[in-house]
Amino acid sequence: MAPFVGTAARYEVTTPPPADGSTRARTGRLTLTHGVVETPQFMPVGTNATVKALTPADIRDAGASIILANTYHLYLRPGHERIGRLGGLHRFMDWDGPILADSGGFQVVSLGDLRVVDDDGVTFRSHLDGSTHRFTPELAMGVQAALRSDVAVAFDQPVFPSSPRAVVADATERTHRWAERSLAARTRDDQAVFGIVQGGLEPDLRAESTRFIASLPFDGICIGGLAGDETPAQRDAALDVAIPLLADDPRPRYLMGLGSPADLLEAVHRGVDLFDSVLPARVARNGQLWVPGGRLNMRNQRFLDDPTAVQDDCPCLLCTRFSRAYLAHLFRAKELLAYRLATCHNLTSTLDFMARVRASIQAGTFPATMSELRLRAGRISGSEVGVKSA
Ligand SMILES: [Zn+2]
Repeated sequence: MAPFVGTAARYEVTTPPPADGSTRARTGRLTLTHGVVETPQFMPVGTNATVKALTPADIRDAGASIILANTYHLYLRPGHERIGRLGGLHRFMDWDGPILADSGGFQVVSLGDLRVVDDDGVTFRSHLDGSTHRFTPELAMGVQAALRSDVAVAFDQPVFPSSPRAVVADATERTHRWAERSLAARTRDDQAVFGIVQGGLEPDLRAESTRFIASLPFDGICIGGLAGDETPAQRDAALDVAIPLLADDPRPRYLMGLGSPADLLEAVHRGVDLFDSVLPARVARNGQLWVPGGRLNMRNQRFLDDPTAVQDDCPCLLCTRFSRAYLAHLFRAKELLAYRLATCHNLTSTLDFMARVRASIQAGTFPATMSELRLRAGRISGSEVGVKSA
């Protein structure tokens, strides 16, 4: 397949899926204004222009090549215009690699009773101070232009995967109109724009949305409305509808909001290239450390006397310098360093897992090593089994 060359984005599939159909997994190279992203790739989330508890050097050391920032949060605080005046998001947070800004659609629509959706946009009340605001596709694009992210995302109306069909159909139709308006509102030629497929768990709506969004001149295709309240089997089924329709499409595919190694693996197998989630960092701050095959709960008393590393062969700041006993102590004492060290480890663990997945795909052994990779991933997600430590 010839490389895709879009606005401020180039994507080249470096290892195509095998012809025998055993997997849709592939590797690729996404070139953006601030650098290159090898796919499949996981993007740590920097909600407030910071990956919580980490410095940019920590993020880089964990193996991250691209991070995500939240348009909704930065619009409210400190304000996108202020970030623009200060030179944009890269300078503001001192991260010189690629940044993808989400559209704000997910956060705005998730406000529940605090928001009203109409065909033109969404009126909502700030979760910070209750003040009233309005997002339209044009405003969301303007906010992202001020942030100067490498990738902006079209404004959409996500719904819970399990929503009634009429609700999904209505939101999907609106998302399509907003996708066209988002593209028309594009102002920067150094910023790629990705469109979002909706359609919930309804196969025909998901297919229709995939075809529609893929027909527009976006630089990448986001698969939205998943990683919510659906089961893994329902998610797999939705991907099995959408991805085959993109088999001959040269653009990167990004499943929004997925974050556990086990879930990432299955989605890569189905042909997804990019992911983001707060999950590895959030569970780290709760004392849950991801290790091959499962997790360690640092709040467990038995770690207070354990002089070994959390994970022997892990190159992270925590594992190369400190013991389980020390980290367990820091969590009990609610010391701030606990959050930094645990987050460094879980992001290193997640990004190392993705590197192993890429190496396996490149070696042509991915289908054969799926079972080994599944064991390494453990079953860490909403439905946790095979946990290494209680
Ligand atoms: Zn580690």
